[in-house]
Amino acid sequence: MEKTLIEEMSWTEFRDAMKETDLIIIPVGVIEEHGCHNPLGTDTLIAEACARLVGERAKVPVAPAMPFGYSANLVSFPGTNSLDPELYRRVLFSYAESYVRHGARRFLFINGHGGNTNTLGLVCGDLFDKYGCICLFNQWWEVLPSLRKDWDCADHGGHFETSMMMGVNPELVHMERARATPVNPLSAGIEYKHGWQYGGAPIPLPVDVYKVHKYGNVGNPPFGANAELGRQMIEAYVEFNVALASELKIAELFEKSLV
Ligand SMILES: [Zn+2]
Repeated sequence: MEKTLIEEMSWTEFRDAMKETDLIIIPVGVIEEHGCHNPLGTDTLIAEACARLVGERAKVPVAPAMPFGYSANLVSFPGTNSLDPELYRRVLFSYAESYVRHGARRFLFINGHGGNTNTLGLVCGDLFDKYGCICLFNQWWEVLPSLRKDWDCADHGGHFETSMMMGVNPELVHMERARATPVNPLSAGIEYKHGWQYGGAPIPLPVDVYKVHKYGNVGNPPFGANAELGRQMIEAYVEFNVALASELKIAELFEKSLV
């Protein structure tokens, strides 16, 4: 296929692309604060940039990025959007379902936002239940530490995510505005790192982080973030997904029903 961005194809080009593969890549993000130095679109922009590179290299159509997600724990920060989670599940399903109508049977969601993961799991299950689609999703902050131990990506708007954003577009990052303070702990033992933890184990605690933190970036401090590191991380993450997409393209679809 000559083009891989669905928004740039005509309907006949898209129809023909779906004869080459039944896999679609969908980048998903959110519009959410990422500290005083990163843009609100950080999660969407990173997911979109990575997805576009994966699509180009793996020859897979890439859908326009889904910029709306679920972000209940940061919604007090000005400019942050959060969809009602049930609505988000229906919208994301319906978005993918449009492509099922035109031949898609596999999806690879490139996720840029941690708050989306529960919904993505449900939507991938729904697409399998209803249409027998094989759907995978992954996120850079989980993939990269498995590729390189020193890439401890457990931050939100911190060293690693800010570097990723700089790797996508350094002009949108204003390091002179970067601040870092730890999130106030809930108690002596219950503290926030990348999510709430107790004794080093994750403890889901659905509260608005704005109540206990004033700048919005958490985890690794952002200082020293740089575009070169971001570009290396993006390259490694993209190559991981190019290989994954190639496997997914040829994976055998399941029979929808045993009877
Ligand atoms: Zn983020």
